Amino acid sequence: MDPIWLLLLLPLAAAGGWLMSAHDKSAVSKSGGLPEAYFKGLSFLLNEQPDKALQVFLEVVEVDKETVEMHMALGNLFRRRGEVERATRIHQNLVARSDIDDSLRELALFELAQDYFKAGLFDRAENLFQELQQVLEYKGQAGRFLLQIYDQEKEWQKAIYVAKQLDRFVEQNFAQTIAHYYCELAEKAITEGNIQDAEKHLKSAFHHDARCIRAVIQSGRLAAMHGNHTNAIAIWRGLAYWAPQAMGEVVGHVSSSYAVLNDESSFKKFLESALEKNADPRIIAMLVELTRKNNGKEAGQALMLNLVRKHPSLESMYQLMNNHEQDVTPSRRDKDFSLLADLLTEVVETGRNYHCRQCGFQSNSLHWQCPGCKGWGTVQRQSGNKLTLPPPPQPLSVG
Ligand SMILES: [Zn+2]
Repeated sequence: MDPIWLLLLLPLAAAGGWLMSAHDKSAVSKSGGLPEAYFKGLSFLLNEQPDKALQVFLEVVEVDKETVEMHMALGNLFRRRGEVERATRIHQNLVARSDIDDSLRELALFELAQDYFKAGLFDRAENLFQELQQVLEYKGQAGRFLLQIYDQEKEWQKAIYVAKQLDRFVEQNFAQTIAHYYCELAEKAITEGNIQDAEKHLKSAFHHDARCIRAVIQSGRLAAMHGNHTNAIAIWRGLAYWAPQAMGEVVGHVSSSYAVLNDESSFKKFLESALEKNADPRIIAMLVELTRKNNGKEAGQALMLNLVRKHPSLESMYQLMNNHEQDVTPSRRDKDFSLLADLLTEVVETGRNYHCRQCGFQSNSLHWQCPGCKGWGTVQRQSGNKLTLPPPPQPLSVG
């Protein structure tokens, strides 16, 4: 026996009792076979014969409309068990009835829409949720389902329309989500080479969320595409003041733009000032690489050591190892050192530096939409696996 059916026993027993007493009081108005039919249906359920049970319950509905809510509960149980087809049959049957009142019919419609949604029949679900949006009681809930459908189907314009309605109607703030939808449209326009449209969408993104990091990154990319690298760098630099945690995301773009401008010394200054705000391993790696290139291996190694001391993390240790590996000949490489390097590689490469502040989802790359909870802009980079290093050995005082 599936314990979930026990949940149904309670309302059934209550209704059975109610029906019995109603039957006793007004034997003329009630069919004497009704309670018997219910218990027959329940017996089929308990014996794992859901199709037979379903048939009995569907027939009962035809004789007594007052048990509609119980059928609704049965339909929901089927859906929760993943038996969407059975749930759909129950809810369709209720919706088709002409003798139930409007509020029950709307409830059945809402349940049916969720059956379609769960079955992935988004077109049908969309139609019903749209119909339900006209009913005040379901406006918010139907809107949220529609948003999930458009989100999944990447129908950004429709998603924006619904999110704006919801923003006015429910307490939750959708501004950040709407900004991300505009960023999606901007990304599509950039891919298609439609710069004008991309600019228009980014303007809308900022209108809804003036601090949308993604829109800032894209604005810089647009400026760079226009060949205005100085402007692009200025846009990305702005992040250092109000979103330093995102500096690591733009350092690659900044590097490319400074390369076009052929201005390595400004790039170095940029990296140094970015490092003061955020010890992102990507920033450290670029600064060390630049130092190695201009001042030699030893200067690079010394800077790396210095930075590892200042910002100890597994990632920075890993970089130190990598640099060291590049600098020594394989014959000189110590066996233990190689083992340690391999271990560290495994830890860092499988490490999950990004986490969702909403659901705790962890990943090793940035997702603008959390794959776990589907929240927009909720995934952030963590400051890395911080280590506490012992103080450097002090020279013995002679005296
Ligand atoms: Zn999440």
